[in-house]
Order: sequence, then C-alpha cells, then structure tokens
Amino acid sequence: MRQARDQLIRALFDEYIEMYAGRDDRLTAHFSENFSGFTGGGDFLVKNREEWVKITRQDFSQVPGRIRIDLLDVSLQDISDDVVITTGFFRIILPIPDNILSKETARLVLVFRREGHDWKIVSSTISIPYHMVQDGEVYPMRNLYDRNRELEALVEERTRALEHTNAQLQKLSNTDGLTEIANRRSFDLLLAQEWNRALRAGSHLSLIILDVDHFKHYNDRYGHLAGDVCLKTLARALAEAERRAGRLVARYGGEEFVVLLPDTDAQAALEIAKHLQQEIWALELPHADTDPGIVTVSLGVASILPSRQCGSNDLVQQADLALYRAKHLGRNCVQTAPR
Ligand code: GH3
Ligand code: MG
Ligand code: MG
Repeated sequence: MRQARDQLIRALFDEYIEMYAGRDDRLTAHFSENFSGFTGGGDFLVKNREEWVKITRQDFSQVPGRIRIDLLDVSLQDISDDVVITTGFFRIILPIPDNILSKETARLVLVFRREGHDWKIVSSTISIPYHMVQDGEVYPMRNLYDRNRELEALVEERTRALEHTNAQLQKLSNTDGLTEIANRRSFDLLLAQEWNRALRAGSHLSLIILDVDHFKHYNDRYGHLAGDVCLKTLARALAEAERRAGRLVARYGGEEFVVLLPDTDAQAALEIAKHLQQEIWALELPHADTDPGIVTVSLGVASILPSRQCGSNDLVQQADLALYRAKHLGRNCVQTAPR
C-alpha cells in the first residue's frame, strides 16, 4: 500500500521535473489551491500559483534551447498518510557557453498532499546556492554569464596582485632595509648552496669580509644619518663592482659586508679584494679620523676547498681571522687567512 503510494509520488515528482524542464504550462494543474513556496534561486516567496507562474516564467527566459535536468538523488519522506515530502538534488545543464549553474547542485523540495482523489503539490521550494538575483530578474542568464566573466577576471587580478605581493615580500625578506643590497639571511642561504655545489664540483669557494675603518668615529663626527648615507654609498659601490661578475655582495651586519666568490681560489680572491679596496678609495668619501682623510676599509680573505671534514662556518671564521689581522696591522689593507 505504502509502496504503491511512494511509487506514485515518485512518478509525480519525475513528471514535475519533466514539465519544469520542458516549460510545460500544465505543470501548475498539479498545484494545490493553497500552494506556496520559494522559487527563482530560492529567493522569492510565493503564496499562490499565479505568483509562482509570474516569477517562474522569467526562469531561463534567455536560454535558447531545451534545459536538461540531471537528477542526482531523490528521497521521499513519509509525513503522514496524506503528506509526503520529496527532496531531489539535481544539476541544471543549460545549452549556453560555460554551463553556468551546471556546477551547482540545486535542491527541490516538493510537498505532496492528498486532496480528494488526487495528490497535489502544496509547496515547492527550490534552492540554488547562488545569489545573482536582481530586481525583476529571476535567472538573469546574460548577467550571470557576464558576472561569471567579471568574477573570473577579478580572481585573476587578485591572484596576480597576490603573486606580486609575495614576490615583494620575498625580496624584502632577502634585502637589507638600509642599503637595499642582500642581507645576512640571503648570504647564509647562498653560502650553504654554494658550499654544497663546490663540494660536489671539487672547486674552491672564497669569501671576502670587509669592515669600514673607524666607523664609530665617522658617526661621532658626522652624525648617525651621515653614517647611514655613507653605508648606502659603500654598499652601492660594492654591489656595482660585483654585479657584472654576478657575485653576491651582502650586508653582513653593521658596517661589515661580505662578498661570496664561487669557483675562485685564494690568489684570485685576493685580487678581487684589492680591487674592491680601490673602488672604495676612489669614492673619496671624507673621513677626518683616518690617516688618508677618506673612508677606508679593511678586508679579510679566505679560500677553501670544501670537504666533508669542514663546514661553511670554517670559511667565515677564516675570513674573520684575516680581517682581524688586517685591523691589527693598521687597517686600510687586505689580509688572507693563514693556511
Ligand atoms: P674598526 O676600524 O676597528 O672597525 O672601528 P669601528 O669604529 O668601525 O668599529 P666598531 O665596531 O667599534 O664600531 C662600528 C660602528 O658602526 C658602531 C656603530 O654605531 C656603527 N654602525 C653599525 N651599523 C650602523 C648603521 O646602520 N648606521 C650607522 N650610521 N652606523 C652604524
Ligand atoms: Mg665592525
Ligand atoms: Mg669598523
């Protein structure tokens, strides 16, 4: 008995879908006099058949061909002998480009009630997880289509902006704020990379550490801001000198800079250090507290053939030691690490 009833309700539901897809006017004959529900995208409460027709007539009005409705799942809920609720999930496939709505799963709830000898639909509620409805338009397909395009363009634009921001952040995190050359972090990363590469290739890796002479006096005499300008000028000169060779110049901290020299032995590294020393001299930045009266630097050079017995720290330590010797010997000179 129940089974026969459920089969009938299911058939009525399928018929409803068929008529709805075919935009068949006979559909409303199945509505109860007390019909109500939500239609459109689920946004319009209608309290009678006429309202439902008025709203629904606009549905798909701009769709040229037949609407296809793919039912995914239908379930029946037994409320009482005289009331059965059917809930169907489906996709609407429209014969227009991009298959708007086709990715959305819509839900239709029909409440069937026995009225006399017939089963009538007392409530029809469609809901589409979509809120593109504008005044006077239920399914503004053209608008949806345009809106889709707009949204895609917006997403693309946001994605590009995000990529740009990420690139900026990446750059910021690798750049020294004052001098705008590579920072310590950047140097550490590259040192590890180049160390491993030299280890595999069996090639030399060299390092220059450069420290400004009597920079504390410079600040004391000319002021901290002038000190900043001086550091910027030095950084730019060093980076410029090494740019063509593609070598990394980084601010190691304070008034110290480093230059990493892949595939460079001790002799070649020493030459490069001397060249950098000359570049700094050539700037002729006044410094009344040094013997030559200009800003000078001390440079420590180390060169190593990486092996499993040592690490990149050893290279830094040796260059530091060489720098210490250069300071000890009176500054404004280049020293290499003892072998
Ligand atoms: P030495 O020849 O032995 O290297 O003497 P020094 O005075 O250069 O060395 P010291 O380490 O005593 O002082 C370094 C100075 O560098 C002290 C610090 O105020 C200054 N300094 C470090 N970072 C900055 C910076 O970003 N801007 C300025 N203006 N000064 C800085
Ligand atoms: Mg220092
Ligand atoms: Mg110094």
